[in-house]
Amino acid sequence: METLYLTHPSCRLHEMGEWHPECPQRLDAISDQLLASGVMSYLDTRQADAAPREALLRAHSAAHVDALAAAVPAVGYHALDPDTQMNPYSYQAALHAAGAGVQAVDAVMGGEAPTAFCAVRPPGHHACRDQAMGFCLFNNVAIAAHHAMARHGLERIAIVDFDVHHGNGTEDIFAGDARVLMCGIFQHPFYPHSGTPARADNMVNVPVPAYTGGAEVREIVTRIWLPRLEAHRPQLILVSAGFDAHREDELGQLRLVEADYAWITNQLMQVADRHAQGRVVSMLEGGYDLSALGRSVVAHIRELARM
Ligand SMILES: [Zn+2]
Repeated sequence: METLYLTHPSCRLHEMGEWHPECPQRLDAISDQLLASGVMSYLDTRQADAAPREALLRAHSAAHVDALAAAVPAVGYHALDPDTQMNPYSYQAALHAAGAGVQAVDAVMGGEAPTAFCAVRPPGHHACRDQAMGFCLFNNVAIAAHHAMARHGLERIAIVDFDVHHGNGTEDIFAGDARVLMCGIFQHPFYPHSGTPARADNMVNVPVPAYTGGAEVREIVTRIWLPRLEAHRPQLILVSAGFDAHREDELGQLRLVEADYAWITNQLMQVADRHAQGRVVSMLEGGYDLSALGRSVVAHIRELARM
C-alpha cells in the first residue's frame, strides 16, 4: 500500500493575479521536486473528486457555500477580501480541494492507503464557517474531519497545523467540539491576529515570536503537543500542512528547515501508529517560497510514506 497523492487540474487554474504569492506554480514546485527526487514513483497518484454539498455543509453554512457559488466571475476576478479573489475556475478548484480531503479520508479509513497528501489549492485553514479569508474559500481540513466523524463514525480526531499563520478558520469551526483536538504553532503577533488566548480547551494554540527556529519548535512539540495528542488518542490525524514557517519563506519570519518538517511528521506518525492504525491525511496550506516549498513537501511525504 502506497501513500496517496491527490490533486486536480482545476487547482492549477485557480489564480488571483500575477502578483499573488498563492499561485499555481506552487503545485508545479511540489510535483517537480517529487519527480526529481524519485519520490513520486512511490506514490499512488489520484485525481480528486469534487466535494459533495453535504460534506461542505458540515463545516460551512449554506449561505457561505451559495455566496461563493454565486460569486464566480465569468471573466476576470471577484474580490472576497483584499487578499482573496476568485477567477472563473476558483469555485471548481475549491470543490476539488475540499473533495481531496474527503476522498483521502475514505481511502485511509477503507484501508486502501495508510496515509495521504493532498496537493491542493486554494488552501483552507483561514476559511471560517461563514467567511472566506486569507486565500481560503472552504476549510478543507475541517470538511475532511467532519466527514470522518459523520461517515466513518470516528469519535476522536486530531488536526495538527504547522503553518506559520494561526488556523483561525479551523478554530472557528471546532472550538468547543471535544471530539477534535487541534494542535497549532504559529508566529505571533502576526496575521490573522487570533489564536491567543485559545477559544476553547480543545485548541492547543502555541504562539511563538518571529525568528523562532527548529530547536525551539521541536521542544514545544515534545513538551506541549505530544502529551495532549497522547491523551486524546486520535483515531485519525489530519495535518494542515503549511510550509511558510520555512526560513526561506518571506511571508513569515520563522526559521524551520526541511529536517524540522520531517521530524514533526515523524512524531505525528508515531502517535498515529499508537492510536490511529497509522492513518494520517495531510493537506497543503501555505508555503510561498517555491524552492523551499517543494523541498519541504518532499521531506514531509518521505515520512508519510516511511521512505
Ligand atoms: Zn500560512
